[in-house]
Amino acid sequence: MIESVLKKYWGYDEFRPLQQEAMQSVMQGLDSVVVLPTGGGKSLCYQAPALCMTGLAVVVSPLISLMKDQVDALVACGVSAARLDSALSAKEQRAVTQSIEQGELKLLYVAPERLMSDRFLGLLQDAQPSFFAVDEAHCVSQWGHDFRPEYRQLGELKTIFPGVAIHAYTATATGQVRDDIVEQLCLADPEILIGSFDRPNLAYKVERRERGLGQILSLLEQHKAESGIIYCIRRADVETLCKKLTDAGYRALPYHAGLAAPVRKKNQDAFIHEACDIIVATVAFGMGIDKSNVRYVIHTGMPKSLEHYQQESGRAGRDGLEADCLLLYTGGDYGTWKVMLQQMEPEARQIAEDKLNDLYGYCTGVSCRHAALVGYFGQTLDRDNCSACDVCLGELRCVDDALQIAQKILSGVLRLQERFGADYTVGVLTGSKDKRVLTNSHDKLSTYGLLSDHGKRAARDWTEQLVSQGYLHKTGEYHVLQVSPTGRRVLRGEEIPQLLEPAAKKTKTRRTDGASWEGVDQDLFERLRAVRRQIADQKKVPAYVVFGDAALRDMARQKPVTAEAFLSVSGVGQAKSKQYGETFLDVIRNHAGAMKPPEDPT
Ligand code: ADP
Repeated sequence: MIESVLKKYWGYDEFRPLQQEAMQSVMQGLDSVVVLPTGGGKSLCYQAPALCMTGLAVVVSPLISLMKDQVDALVACGVSAARLDSALSAKEQRAVTQSIEQGELKLLYVAPERLMSDRFLGLLQDAQPSFFAVDEAHCVSQWGHDFRPEYRQLGELKTIFPGVAIHAYTATATGQVRDDIVEQLCLADPEILIGSFDRPNLAYKVERRERGLGQILSLLEQHKAESGIIYCIRRADVETLCKKLTDAGYRALPYHAGLAAPVRKKNQDAFIHEACDIIVATVAFGMGIDKSNVRYVIHTGMPKSLEHYQQESGRAGRDGLEADCLLLYTGGDYGTWKVMLQQMEPEARQIAEDKLNDLYGYCTGVSCRHAALVGYFGQTLDRDNCSACDVCLGELRCVDDALQIAQKILSGVLRLQERFGADYTVGVLTGSKDKRVLTNSHDKLSTYGLLSDHGKRAARDWTEQLVSQGYLHKTGEYHVLQVSPTGRRVLRGEEIPQLLEPAAKKTKTRRTDGASWEGVDQDLFERLRAVRRQIADQKKVPAYVVFGDAALRDMARQKPVTAEAFLSVSGVGQAKSKQYGETFLDVIRNHAGAMKPPEDPT
């Protein structure tokens, strides 16, 4: 039954991982906690069962913009859904209330504070909710990155509506947050479903920031007229970069907390409705952005932690199609963050610094990025080569004499009796004339100047690479370097580390999008995209609410010319087929006609 609902309303033939299990627990009335990465398809886990069950499913969501997009998308699929929030006029609110009373709605989106108001609870008592779905459920936990006190009141739902199941959905992985969700929402022996945190469709690349704009432009070149997000650490950088991109002819808009709220909203809307392609932003941008066809996310500087990176880069490719995530960093970014962290309380600062070090380890690391990211969240990657990161694609060049260089660095650490940090150690190895080095007589050590030929920057990078591969450890408050047991194996020549060529010259960038473009007529795809844009503009909804990129590509692959064939396109359900079918079929037919060779007159 659920399969036919999936096909009829959304036009999907298959479940994404864990969706079926998650839907089953909803159908069986068991409480559940579902942890899936961004783009994992959490919404469908409760939306599809809501249509199969009697009564009204109530969805709690933290942001009006998020609710609006979800409801727009549901209505476009022919689902009877509505939202109740302060952005609606009194008349609109009355209409929604009426349809609740008349039992016409299947899904209702509300903010937590409205849900828990006496008036609304009274209304719901009569409507008999089928279940509650708590979206972005980590907001209930103080351990999460986006705690919202109003979510705490949701704990009372179980007392007010005994026997009505509650389902919590989040992309936040930690066990602590998960346990807290169960406790705060008073869930009874819930089903816990945790998906893989890997995002195979995202291609991760990390580069040391060298050419600044040039590195950014070379990625933008590959994504002409496609949507992308560029994150900067500071507001000033947002403004400067946005201007440079606009001057270079790109349709870019800025977003940061220093802009007035109406400007922020206008720019965000322009991005969602594809009136601009690029949003250049601080991390203030992102929460509540459901746009499924973001094709790349660039970080022009280091984020604060791998949690942040996973979340921010995760905004790319929610539709499951390939997308690029480029992270540009320098040692300077690391320093900038460290200074910013100084203002924190000591305990919190230590945690934040550890997270920063993990992220720096990721930047300087030379192992598969997908493996490193899921590893950070306690999972293992199920394949050896992800084929979608700079390391596995062989874009990084390794130095030939890695063993010798590593031995020099490790000996340098030992000669300093493992009492100094990376900067100082590298200073000695590269023959620094720094006063501290001279006063300590470290210019007399046999390791002094051993790496002078390579320069400080390269030696510093290699040191970090040895840390991230576990040959060196950083310990204590001052991150003093120590040689690990595997580091000693390197010193004995029993193991060879991998070190990267400084400022690695990139080999030709390979794109990893073969499969999802396979058989797609790209000309036709562009035509369909233009029509989608017109319809979206007319209806004042985001383009992906009309059809996602995946559906358009499948149309341009299958090239259906009849209404029946149109329904077999992935992402085309009955309501959309009825509403838009003829318009898109016309484009496909015309395109087929234009492509036909002229008939032979003989
Ligand atoms: P999440 O909330 O987990 O970030 P969404 O629910 O927004 O993810 O889903 C991301 C995208 O994937 C949406 O465009 C959605 O329509 C699509 N999607 C979800 N489930 C499926 C499926 N079974 N088959 C194809 N596409 C799906």
